[in-house]
Amino acid sequence: MAKAIATPSRTKEIVERWQIHARKGYGQNFLVDPSAAARIAESVAGDGAVIEIGPGIGALTEQLAQRCAAVRAYEIDADFLPVLADTLSPYPNTEVVHQDFLTVDLDRDTADLRQKYGSLKAAGNLPYYITTQILFRLFEAENAFTVITAMMQREVADRFAAGPGDPDYGAISVESQYLYETKKLLNVPRNSFWPSPNVDSAVIVFTRREVIDEVPDRNDFFTFVKACFKQRRKTLYNNLREYFNDAGTAQEVIAAAGFSPSQRAQELSVADFLKLYRSVV
Ligand code: SAM
Repeated sequence: MAKAIATPSRTKEIVERWQIHARKGYGQNFLVDPSAAARIAESVAGDGAVIEIGPGIGALTEQLAQRCAAVRAYEIDADFLPVLADTLSPYPNTEVVHQDFLTVDLDRDTADLRQKYGSLKAAGNLPYYITTQILFRLFEAENAFTVITAMMQREVADRFAAGPGDPDYGAISVESQYLYETKKLLNVPRNSFWPSPNVDSAVIVFTRREVIDEVPDRNDFFTFVKACFKQRRKTLYNNLREYFNDAGTAQEVIAAAGFSPSQRAQELSVADFLKLYRSVV
C-alpha cells in the first residue's frame, strides 16, 4: 500500500511531481503529520457522508475516504484537480467539487448525501483567512451536520472551545456552543505543515446538541450576545445600557432574568444568555 499522503516524504514527492507552489492567499499549508490526519478522520468515521473543505493534495481526504461511506471535497484551486484525481484514484467513494466553499448552496448540495447516507458530517484543515465564515456556514446549514471537525489557528480554536470564566470566552464561544458542544481534539504545531505557517494550530470537534433551546430569531440572539460582550471590561449593565440606549430597560432586563447588574458577560453560560435574552423578547 502506498505511503499516506500526509507523510512528509509522500507530500514532497507529490509537490515535486506536480510542481506545486503553495498559495498564501488561499491559506495553503499542507498537513504533513499522518497521525493528526488519521485522528481528525477518526472523529467523523462511520456510515454517514462527510464533506471536506479544502482538500489540497488530499492528505485528509484520503484518511476520510478510508473511514467514511462517502466524501465530497470542495476545493477552490483548479491546479489541485489533476493532483487529486491522481492521489485519490484508489478511493471511488470520493468526489471533488471545484468551487469556492463560501458560494456553495449547502442545503441543496448536501440533500442527496443526507438522503443516501443518513447522516452528514464535515471536516477540514481550514484555510486561515475564512475559518469563522466557513464554520458559521456549517453551523447554520439546514441539513444539520452532526459532527464538524476543524483544524484552525490555535488562538481561534481556544475561543471556540472556551467556557464561562476563561479569558478566551466571548461571543464566538456562545454562538457556536448554542448549537454544538465543542471540544479540543489536539494541538498541532506549526512544523506539522508544509510550508510551515507562523502560528500553531489546533483541532476542534463540534458535536451537534441533541436538544437545542431554539430562539425565534438566531441572528437577533447573536446580536444581543455580541452586545453583552461589546466592552469586556464593562459590566453587563453598562453594555446593555448602550445596547438599549436606555438605563431603565437594561436594569429591568437584568433583574427579570435574575442576574446582578455588576456581573460581566464572561461569567454567563449559554443557558444564562438564553435566559437573559428571553427577558427582552
Ligand atoms: N486539506 C489539505 C491538508 O490538510 O493538507 C489542505 C489544507 S490548506 C490549510 C486549505 C485548503 O483550502 C487549500 O487546499 C486551499 O486551496 C483551500 N481553500 C482555500 N479557500 C477555499 C475556499 N474558499 N473554498 C474551498 N477551498 C478553499
